[in-house]
Amino acid sequence: MRYIPTIGIECHVQLCTKTKLFSEVDNDARGKEPNSCVSPVDYALPGMLPRLNGTAVKFAILAGRAMNCEINAYSRFDRKHYFYPDSPKGYQITQFYQPIIGAGYVELPSGNKIRIEHAHLEGDAGKLTHFDNYSLVDLNRVDTPLIEIVSMPDIHSAKEAHDYCKELWRLMCYAGVTNGDLYNGNMRFDVNTSLAPEGSKTLGTRTEIKNLNSFRSVERAAEYEIARQTKVLEAGEKVIQQTLGWSDATGKTSPQRSKEVAADYRYMPEPDLPPIRLSSEFIEAESAKLPLMPNNYRALFHEIIKPDTLEVLLDYPELMHKLNEINKEYVKSISNLFTSVLLAEEKSAEYLNDLPAAKDLEELAEMNAKKELSSTAAKEVFLRLFDPQMKGRGAKTIAKELGLIQENDLGALEEIVDAVLAKPETQKAQDDFRNGEEKVIGFLVGQVMKESHGKANPSAVQEILRKKLA
Ligand code: MN
Repeated sequence: MRYIPTIGIECHVQLCTKTKLFSEVDNDARGKEPNSCVSPVDYALPGMLPRLNGTAVKFAILAGRAMNCEINAYSRFDRKHYFYPDSPKGYQITQFYQPIIGAGYVELPSGNKIRIEHAHLEGDAGKLTHFDNYSLVDLNRVDTPLIEIVSMPDIHSAKEAHDYCKELWRLMCYAGVTNGDLYNGNMRFDVNTSLAPEGSKTLGTRTEIKNLNSFRSVERAAEYEIARQTKVLEAGEKVIQQTLGWSDATGKTSPQRSKEVAADYRYMPEPDLPPIRLSSEFIEAESAKLPLMPNNYRALFHEIIKPDTLEVLLDYPELMHKLNEINKEYVKSISNLFTSVLLAEEKSAEYLNDLPAAKDLEELAEMNAKKELSSTAAKEVFLRLFDPQMKGRGAKTIAKELGLIQENDLGALEEIVDAVLAKPETQKAQDDFRNGEEKVIGFLVGQVMKESHGKANPSAVQEILRKKLA
């Protein structure tokens, strides 16, 4: 019997607001002492009153629109009760009954659409660090705003689970609602997997793999879980519904102690926060701030940039927005430079923070088109455009200063070619060429390049040489 896997994914996205979801404390605790970004609201001193962060609401609208979701005009918060040392309140403030983001979908590069069931706003928990016989609590992360995105079970392979998570990451980064730092847990994925016999109308028993923080882990964990469940079913046994952890080191899932079952959370409306009421004008005005999304760029550039290259470049929203500012006829040439120079040399992160002006890139592309630069020289000038000390000088000035402009003046080139052909040491090569030895043309071009101190345009030189030797 063939089993069809079905996967649904829940994703927590940390929002990059300045302050926390319910207090005015710094939301960015990077490099700060544990428990230094905490207010009485976060650690739930009796009598504290949470106040909702307006930017988090605006970010929720952007995130929702990025996933083609309905934004609900009315939503509110609920308390989800559980005890854990990283949550001093004894409950999480979340949206259980009426979330801010309704149904929508994420379209994958393959064209498949994964439906979004809903997404809601909630506060994060703190962090526990475990040692041999004690644990330390850091509350800096308490009530960092999160959006939890719940997909429908529309995914049917480990690869598609990977692609969905990656596209979700891109959408959130383009929408500008998160720093998207996966290494530091800015996005965390829970993967629900079940198997059912082909043709079956009901889903099988599912397991949930918690807290994956890379696309690769999502793919590997789903692959492992599909194989494990297949084995269980083929042996005539039953899959047990349970929560699993994933270890990148062992490449295996293993059962985790789950907190409680859902019924134990004792959800109740949060009495300290009024409901969120959004006018359609406000929703529209905020939605309009969404920049172009990956799919817009796929549609815009699919005829200009090869799909594989485009998928690599799409990981860098600022780069795509920059390409969009550039005259379309130069996009191919500039995207090639970005790919070959930045991505190949893994300079992407630091370089892509501060991109050259569109007009400087256009000037470079124009020089390229006129063959005023060799491909090596073009890369050299391109890199200099990122240099803070060279910035604003323009591609042409930089190329001139570095002596990189190619000689394209045919008259001048012909003179150099004549001089080289008159040299005794090139006589043998000339004879060999006339006798049909094609490849000696390379030697002669090389001699001319040397004579021109590298400034001649090699293809023009070759053309002249062929004419003269014919
Ligand atoms: Mn959650």
